[in-house]
Amino acid sequence: MTSLDALEPRLPSPLREVPDDRFARHGVRLFLKRDDLIHPELVGNKWRKLAPNLTAAAGRPIVTFGGAYSNHLRATAAAGRLLGVPTVGVVRGQELAGRPLNPVLARCAADGMRLHFVDRSTYRRKAEPDILAAVLGSAGVPDAYVVPEGGSNAAAVRGCLALGAELRGRADVVAVACGTGGTLAGLAAGLGPGQRALGIPVLKGGFLADEIRRLQGAAFGGRRGSWSLDERFHFGGYARVPALLDAFAEDFEERHRLPVERLYVAKLLYGLVALTEEGAFPRGTVLAAVITGRPFPPSRPPRSGPGTDQVASR
Ligand SMILES: *Cc1c(COP(=O)(O)O)cnc(C)c1O
Repeated sequence: MTSLDALEPRLPSPLREVPDDRFARHGVRLFLKRDDLIHPELVGNKWRKLAPNLTAAAGRPIVTFGGAYSNHLRATAAAGRLLGVPTVGVVRGQELAGRPLNPVLARCAADGMRLHFVDRSTYRRKAEPDILAAVLGSAGVPDAYVVPEGGSNAAAVRGCLALGAELRGRADVVAVACGTGGTLAGLAAGLGPGQRALGIPVLKGGFLADEIRRLQGAAFGGRRGSWSLDERFHFGGYARVPALLDAFAEDFEERHRLPVERLYVAKLLYGLVALTEEGAFPRGTVLAAVITGRPFPPSRPPRSGPGTDQVASR
């Protein structure tokens, strides 16, 4: 098995200030924490969350779970190829078996992930020990290392401590988009005194605060750091990208030459503009937005060269 260090992650990830009137006129400075540049394929918070799990798996096959548009499945598949570790993706939706794969699942398969489709009721019950054992058995990997859906377990949350630590003394508020909340749970714990983390959930539901408390309990034995959620910017739920949000993201890409991932990062940035316009941040606030990923499939050919951040897409 290839070691993670051999993949030469760019850590700490770059932090850069971007000039943006929508913030400047309220006396707020905006910084982008470029976790999307950590590795061209094992991008962003997925690196931070998967790295400790890959170490713990110690070369055993990795089984994980996701829906048909899961960034986490795609990152796990890429990790498997890069490190020479077998991966199995348990995908929600028996009806998808035998159909042409969507771009996300096609990419997973091309990276060598074995896809195992299960019906929705089995999928819902995947955390129950007997159901899990049956799924692992029928996938032919009874001794696999299991990473939960979305990749958030205690090891993953601890892996995100470094994100907070890299930002100590560099910002007053650090904002991140949330799916499972694992990244926010670790980030908040890693920040220094006087700093706070702000999560923008991309799923509808209002259940996330409890889940983040649970994850911090599992990872650290209790609540850590200062964090809060603003639940207003999910735009209808996971993977919903209405035209308004898409136009906002395109405009942001042009202003700042940043490829804006639509499912998470666009909602985060939209929320930060809206909050700033509402006066949520006092003048003088230094705000850092964590850029947790990049668009998939890439919407444009790879750019590189002087003055641009490299956006590889192989
Ligand atoms: C997976 C993902 C997230 C969500 O991370 P959680 O730890 O599940 O909250 C945020 N942004 C991007 C781009 C992601 O792929």
